[in-house]
Amino acid sequence: MKKYLTHLITKEPTPQSAPLPETTQVANSAGGYSWAVDEWGHLRRFLILGSEGGSYYASERALTLENANNVLKCIQTDGVRAVNEVVAISQEGRAPKNDPAIFALALAVTKGDEATRQAAFKALPEVCRTGTHLFTFAELVNGMRGWGRGLRRAVGGWYLAMDNRSLVYQLVKYRQRNGWTHTDTLRLAHPTPANDTQGAIFKWVTYKPNKNGTGETAHVEANPLEWAEALNAPEDQALAFIWAFERVQKAADTATVVRLIEAYDLPREALPTQWLNDPDVWAALLTKMPMTALIRNLGVMSRIGLLKPLSEAENTVVERLTNADVLRKARVHPIAVLIALRAYSLGYALKGKVNRRGQAGAEKSAGWTPTPRVLDALDAAFELAFKNVEPTNQRVMLALDVSGSMSGGMVAGVPGLTPREGSAAMAMVTARSEPNYTVVSFQDKIVPLNISARMRLTDVVKMTNGLPFGTTDCAQPMLYALEHKIAVDTFVIYTDSETWFGKIHPAAALQDYREKMGIPSKLVVVGMVSNGFTIADPNDAGMLDVVGFDASAPALIADFGRGAI
Ligand code: CA
Repeated sequence: MKKYLTHLITKEPTPQSAPLPETTQVANSAGGYSWAVDEWGHLRRFLILGSEGGSYYASERALTLENANNVLKCIQTDGVRAVNEVVAISQEGRAPKNDPAIFALALAVTKGDEATRQAAFKALPEVCRTGTHLFTFAELVNGMRGWGRGLRRAVGGWYLAMDNRSLVYQLVKYRQRNGWTHTDTLRLAHPTPANDTQGAIFKWVTYKPNKNGTGETAHVEANPLEWAEALNAPEDQALAFIWAFERVQKAADTATVVRLIEAYDLPREALPTQWLNDPDVWAALLTKMPMTALIRNLGVMSRIGLLKPLSEAENTVVERLTNADVLRKARVHPIAVLIALRAYSLGYALKGKVNRRGQAGAEKSAGWTPTPRVLDALDAAFELAFKNVEPTNQRVMLALDVSGSMSGGMVAGVPGLTPREGSAAMAMVTARSEPNYTVVSFQDKIVPLNISARMRLTDVVKMTNGLPFGTTDCAQPMLYALEHKIAVDTFVIYTDSETWFGKIHPAAALQDYREKMGIPSKLVVVGMVSNGFTIADPNDAGMLDVVGFDASAPALIADFGRGAI
């Protein structure tokens, strides 16, 4: 009998291949047990990480279906709340791409109840902030539902809500996407113009020359080019912008193009492509270039000889990249900066098809020499683009899951950016803000990785990428800290939560660590894949789930560490 009793009271830990007793753990994709994130947590992961590129365990299609079903679940549970979540993440610029938000909004106007649909229609201009977003939305809803009155009114309202100057900017800058143009959306929605100028603008954009090139006279009195010319640089700012756009199409020399850009703030998209190799044209564009365009075109501006060491352009670019206010106002997402950093530091662009690992069978573009000041500025911009982080001054262990599954799929649909590389970049933000930090990486044991906050982002990502693959045990950071008596206030684990190999569950290992070290340590799980799992115990107030590459994630981690949330 005594033997039986020993068996009962000896607390042999439950291995990760079985669920922790008396908990709600579920089987994950790796054959281990984790908790399920609730539908709202799952929704946030999707809105931020997307499903493009799939994951190690799921194809893009499977991951998209899984997430679409979860969005539908949220819409059925509380559709208005779902719409509000979409608006919040989209508006605050927390997600690298707006596409998942637009997708969720399209589902809400299609599958939601009356209140949900109304909320979604109202949210349209808040989520679809550019013409491109609107076309993406139109394409999605077009495949799912008809163009009823509510939808027509919402899309028409998108145009009517803008002042005329903002309207013409949208019409010129974002002219088409996936076969959709403003002519299509305006003809479907058919909004009644609020004033004469708006009426003229709508006519200009929906004008379509017939085969003889004479135009649909029923629709517009004259050829819009002639019409715009006849306006002769009109007083009205919106009409003048159209006039300048039409003029630049026919410009014959650099001086004219430069003058039109300077006088009317024409964006790059307004120019015929033949001018896009001219350094004077780019210099004129650079003065008022939107941040996202600036970040994307660093290579081009270097290649054509505008952006070079000790140049005025270099000063402008560095100044703007290191201005936190400018970055945040433009909703520049850290991933956009990371992509730019990788692309610019390469010294050439890849043309043609780029595969999942970011390598291309394609040829390289003409090259450029990256300037070190711009590289440093991009490195700094990556952190500045995150929501401001107040250091906790606590003892923080940043633990990167570098197991095999973390090298599959891509983060937010970025070719070549695996969850494991993304984790390394994310960890750097906290490492750079906290005075007391250590970075470890693990598979089924701790893998040495000498990362310090002073290192360049690109080097850190490269280091992570070079590690061998292995199986997963997410308890390793706590076991390692206990074994070496390392005092940790907050463990931050970057993972897909597909843990299965360990003899003890991560949550149990944390419990054990707390008891033996006498520290009420916390655990933050940074979810790097839009799956439905987490190693964080939802019933333990000392554990928190955040979404990897949420622009607010480092701030949330710090707030949780200091007990503010
Ligand atoms: Ca794994």
